[in-house]
Amino acid sequence: MTKIINGKEFAAKLRALTLKEIEVSGLKPGLAVVLVGNDPASEVYVRNKDAAAREVGIAAETIKLAADISQAELLAKIAELNKDKKIHGILVQLPLPKHIDEKAVINAIDPDKDVDGFHVINAGRAFTGQAGLVPCTPLGCILLLKDLLGDLSGMNAVVIGRSNIVGKPMANLLLAENCTVTIAHSKTRDLPGVCAQADILVAAVGRPKMVKANWVKEGAVVIDVGINRVDGKLCGDVDFDEVAPKCRAITPVPGGVGPMTIACLLKNTLDAARRLRK
Ligand code: NDP
Repeated sequence: MTKIINGKEFAAKLRALTLKEIEVSGLKPGLAVVLVGNDPASEVYVRNKDAAAREVGIAAETIKLAADISQAELLAKIAELNKDKKIHGILVQLPLPKHIDEKAVINAIDPDKDVDGFHVINAGRAFTGQAGLVPCTPLGCILLLKDLLGDLSGMNAVVIGRSNIVGKPMANLLLAENCTVTIAHSKTRDLPGVCAQADILVAAVGRPKMVKANWVKEGAVVIDVGINRVDGKLCGDVDFDEVAPKCRAITPVPGGVGPMTIACLLKNTLDAARRLRK
């Protein structure tokens, strides 16, 4: 019987734990969410993050800035938030308008307040096995995997996708759990054959239902990070209906990885507040 991994339920438990830990800690973590412009999708994401943060006792503040703000003005705002003792987490909603250098903005955030884990210092810390803030989506995936499997040592893991926000940090977290990791991407030869070696297969591509049943080993665990909209309906990068029967466990879309991302953002904000207190 295939287990359908309930990310919604797990994320609710993680949020409840974060709420409890915040109460016990006596901390008042502060999260600043910076939104530049008025992209409707970004507005929804920011609203959801703000609301989820408040529910667990994080003092969330959304800072809305005009789409034509200059890079210097945005960097000045970041510098102000870096200095603000009430703010422990800073998140800049991506994408930013084209005239702004995204990397420069992310790298201007104090790495210890970088709750998205995108700063080059946090990427470097993760790569060299030092404590730091880890990108929320891969963190959510690894929590689901550890909850399901316990020890991941020695497993063959294949990650499809090599972005800085999902694929690469995901591969790094799996390596830290002693998996043998392959990172596949658009230039990979024989992608179905590579994926068929995986005990753990993570798809983070952005192509609806790309992963088919013959790409998946019998009894594999499949984590579908993809969020795609087809005919008004959400679906993942995995063809769930044909792949699920072959799996030991699989995340659905929606209701799998998605809810874990925000829950991990809240966890990261608490972790940042704890680190900064020290
Ligand atoms: P990117 O577009 O940045 O990266 C996609 C990756 O997939 C690239 O490395 C690319 O390879 C690879 N790729 C593209 N086409 C193919 C192909 N035909 N075969 C093999 N590999 C391919 O996307 P993200 O990493 O930002 O996001 C991936 C997906 O995850 C998206 O659907 C996104 O919406 C979703 N997502 C979900 C989140 C959640 O909370 N659940 C959070 C973040 C993202 P190459 O590098 O060679 O171009």
